[in-house]
Amino acid sequence: MTLLDSIITVNRSFVHPGAFPPLPKNPKRQFAIFTCMDTRLVDFLEPAMGIKRGDAKVIKNAGNILIDPLHGGVIRSLVAAIFMLGVEEVFVIGHEDCGMANIDPEKLKSDMIARGIHPSAIETHVPDLAQWLGTFSCPEDNVIEVVEKIRANPLIPADVPIHGLIFCPNDGHLEVMVDGYKASKYQA
Ligand SMILES: [Zn+2]
Repeated sequence: MTLLDSIITVNRSFVHPGAFPPLPKNPKRQFAIFTCMDTRLVDFLEPAMGIKRGDAKVIKNAGNILIDPLHGGVIRSLVAAIFMLGVEEVFVIGHEDCGMANIDPEKLKSDMIARGIHPSAIETHVPDLAQWLGTFSCPEDNVIEVVEKIRANPLIPADVPIHGLIFCPNDGHLEVMVDGYKASKYQA
């Protein structure tokens, strides 16, 4: 059985008519999370924050990195979340032991070429592989930098607090790096 087959098989026994009451599109608790795609965070970060289905918008990418801080995909999602979906606060959450820390771009390049990616495609589309990947040496520094970039983005309202936190993917502990209430025009 392929992975696709096994997922569809599980899904057929998961679905029961009427078992899941419809939820509104807008998050119940008016906040968005921007975090890493790390598999250890799946079904772990949310319960560690007391978040349930329907509570929050969750944006993920490799390393919770902001490559295009002015109008990239993350900013696009945050603008949609804030102006269209009722989001009032943003949590940038990095984590310890992140796979995007200290990546070797030369090794990645040779691995891509070994898998059949043409070297000219890399040269044409991502000539600066390290910059494009956004690899970092310290997850804490990355969180602080991402918070600062979102805070400075002219499309993000000044009254939206942007918090920065670090999560432990092993024991579920959260540490606050940036208290967004202090850096925003937020009024409690
Ligand atoms: Zn990560």
